[in-house]
Amino acid sequence: MDCIFCKIAAGEIPSTKVLEDDDFLAFHDLNAQAPIHVLVIPKQHIVSIADEAGDAALLGGVLERARQVARQLDLEERGYRVVFNIGNEGGQAVPHLHAHVLGGRQMTWPPG
Ligand code: 5GP
Ligand code: ZN
Repeated sequence: MDCIFCKIAAGEIPSTKVLEDDDFLAFHDLNAQAPIHVLVIPKQHIVSIADEAGDAALLGGVLERARQVARQLDLEERGYRVVFNIGNEGGQAVPHLHAHVLGGRQMTWPPG
């Protein structure tokens, strides 16, 4: 499949990994929007959280890894933001489910 995140999960495109296990991978975003900007993906190709092929274990697994990334990169005390973009108006550019873990600066609201 011609999916950039599937290729990253398969190691066909290099990435700077933060954590990896059998089913999930976290890596630094190429175009960071904050001092820390990590993407957490399931290795299985799921389009977004709206994709019902992604069950509760998969969705929860992504959040669990997001929490682990924050812990690993010392964001827990400062706080951080986890974002899922879904579809066109949600601003999703890559159609493979990913959580953005953003931190290291004050986040603003609303996001725009
Ligand atoms: P989206 O807009 O789909 O929520 O987010 C996609 C994210 O993937 C963007 O923040 C973009 O910078 C990042 N991205 C796109 N291609 C690559 C890549 O090849 N490597 C890495 N590390 N990040 C990528
Ligand atoms: Zn994919």
